[in-house]
Amino acid sequence: MPPPHADVADLFAADGPLARVIEGFATRPEQVSMAQAVASALAMRRHSLIEAGTGVGKTFAYLVPALFAHRRVIVSTGTRTLQDQLFHRDLPVIARAMGLPVRVAMLKGRSNYLCLQRLELAEREVATNTRSRNAMRLLNTIRRWSHTTKSGDIGELAEQNEQEPIWQAVTSTRENCLGGECPVFQRCHVVAARREAQAADVIV
Ligand code: SF4
Repeated sequence: MPPPHADVADLFAADGPLARVIEGFATRPEQVSMAQAVASALAMRRHSLIEAGTGVGKTFAYLVPALFAHRRVIVSTGTRTLQDQLFHRDLPVIARAMGLPVRVAMLKGRSNYLCLQRLELAEREVATNTRSRNAMRLLNTIRRWSHTTKSGDIGELAEQNEQEPIWQAVTSTRENCLGGECPVFQRCHVVAARREAQAADVIV
């Protein structure tokens, strides 16, 4: 683990921790400058507006100082695809390289999580009404997946048709969520994701 006082540039050095775990890693001066600017903004609790071109290695330039900040950091992304990439691919690599026991959590909007209560309601409705074949097939797929998913993140079923209205029937809004009155509150994916985020050092 790098000492807390190590300059962030050391982490990007040719013989540094990133180079040791990332094949083909090369020090890029622009990337180091950006990382130093981000680290400084985090340390000083100041805003920093940074524009960097293609090939600078922006992702690592902000993630490395975020993990190195030794304080809670929220990384907000423009797309869910980038959010997934940071959480599943980039952050584990950096944490491993730096040997940091950092707790990282991914938190999406509530409409991205399966609502177990509404899934049950949707299934009951299907039993009494006729829905399209596609919707029924998708509902069956969702039910099977609900038994195995840990996160309840519907992105795990990305190959399914996102336009299908059934998704609205099995996810919640602030208005229709039963909150503490919900019979499956203890198993709620939204509640679990928020709880994990509260305990995390870095939230994406
Ligand atoms: S607490 Fe809300 S979001 Fe969670 S399962 Fe119940 S109704 Fe759905």
